[in-house]
Amino acid sequence: METRTDAIVIGGGIAGLQAAIDLADQDFRVIVVEKEPSIGGKMIALSKVFPTLDCSSCICTPRMAAAAHHELITILTYSEVEAIRRNGAHFSVTVRSKPRYVIEKDCIGCRKCEYVCPVYVPDEFEGGLGARRAIYLPFTNAIPQVALLDVDNCTFCGACAKACPTNAIDYLQEAQVTDIEAGAIIVTTGYALTPTHLIDRYGNGKLANVINGLQVERLLAPHGPYGRVLRPSDGRIPGSVAFIQCAGSRDQSLKNGSGVSWCSRVCCMYAIKQAMLLSGSLPLVDITIYYMDIRAFGKGFEQFYQNAKAMGIEFVKARVARITEGENENPRLRIERLEEDGRIEEREYDLVIITPGIVPAWESKDILPIGIGSDRFIKCEHPLLAPCRTTERGVFVAGTASGPKDIPDSIVEAGAAAMESANYLRQTGYVTTGNNHSNMR
Ligand SMILES: Cc1cc2nc3c(=O)[nH]c(=O)nc-3n(C[C@H](O)[C@H](O)[C@H](O)COP(=O)(O)OP(=O)(O)OC[C@H]3O[C@@H](n4cnc5c(N)ncnc54)[C@H](O)[C@@H]3O)c2cc1C
Repeated sequence: METRTDAIVIGGGIAGLQAAIDLADQDFRVIVVEKEPSIGGKMIALSKVFPTLDCSSCICTPRMAAAAHHELITILTYSEVEAIRRNGAHFSVTVRSKPRYVIEKDCIGCRKCEYVCPVYVPDEFEGGLGARRAIYLPFTNAIPQVALLDVDNCTFCGACAKACPTNAIDYLQEAQVTDIEAGAIIVTTGYALTPTHLIDRYGNGKLANVINGLQVERLLAPHGPYGRVLRPSDGRIPGSVAFIQCAGSRDQSLKNGSGVSWCSRVCCMYAIKQAMLLSGSLPLVDITIYYMDIRAFGKGFEQFYQNAKAMGIEFVKARVARITEGENENPRLRIERLEEDGRIEEREYDLVIITPGIVPAWESKDILPIGIGSDRFIKCEHPLLAPCRTTERGVFVAGTASGPKDIPDSIVEAGAAAMESANYLRQTGYVTTGNNHSNMR
């Protein structure tokens, strides 16, 4: 299939959606390419957001819907950019959409296929803490509301095909390749957390009651895997919880490259937020945050931190040297207290939350010849004066694809990248508005 658009946005997280909406509201056509089966990025999986404690999905879902329903925005989910070729001032982009084994136009999102599927596998959206079926909707408010079949785990029993009221299951569906001519590109591919299995000091991801920040977000979410906060190993309500800050940021002593030299910027604030939410849902829990420095630099952040202290959350300036497993699968921490002459102590907790370093989600180097910094995030033309321009003309960047940042900063950058792209499109005279445009999915 061939098509033409003004801009391509790679990545359908909050930054990508905002950039697409801002461009489309100025009458430019936009195609959003998202590798996951739904748009929404990390934000749609968060519980509440600092410093306002607003419900994250209540803010994110309307943005997802606004992009999906905009007549100038086309969203290609479960799709990745395979090749980008410069074509004068513009680009020829090849996108491969993976098969869902479900005919998208026929699926009505009724979930009947899911209910009859006999296979249970760990649910990626729940950070592996809950289970999903082999055919499933990615999550309740996913966009598009279209099921997908995980062929690696499917037993091909045929139950889903029999249950589907619209005959939408197609076990023979193939990948679809789309060639797109685009005037500009905005990269909003976001971030990933360093995988815990690489962090040997903190149990290599093998300790059931040591989880990361994104998993806690799901435990705290109203529609999370257990419906309330429980320990993954035995389903008990935790009585004591510890947070380990900088568990991979500002620390290059970790092996396997699992530590990064930079500050991941959001971990102090999300740990404080999660501690407050935990103490709200578990009134008897003891919470300790082990930190190097608290970086509460944004508007309202310092007050948020002071509120957490006033709620009785304990802040201890310390480094945690390692985590081993104690009794009842309790994580056992070896702690060096930084304010008490380096006193070493060991303490056990019911649940431990680590905050791994934030790293780029996409290594674009084979596909797009843009400058990459020594931190592997996308380099800006000028970090102060042109934070959304990359080293390549016509390619812009926004959100955490250029470095760790919070949601408000990602949204502001998305708006700026949309404006930069609009200027570029006008200068180069590449505007398709008015062409016939089929709203592919
Ligand atoms: C535990 C935790 C809690 C947080 N809590 C808060 C909070 O309370 N308040 C706050 O302001 N911030 C918070 N943040 C930060 C927040 O998550 C980010 O600021 C925000 O999600 C950044 O949005 P983004 O669009 O840049 O990236 P992402 O949300 O990562 O979205 C990027 C999108 O691009 C897609 N993608 C990646 N690679 C490709 C590819 N090759 N092709 C196509 N698509 C691709 C991804 O699938 C994803 O959908 C938190 C972060 C963490 C880790």
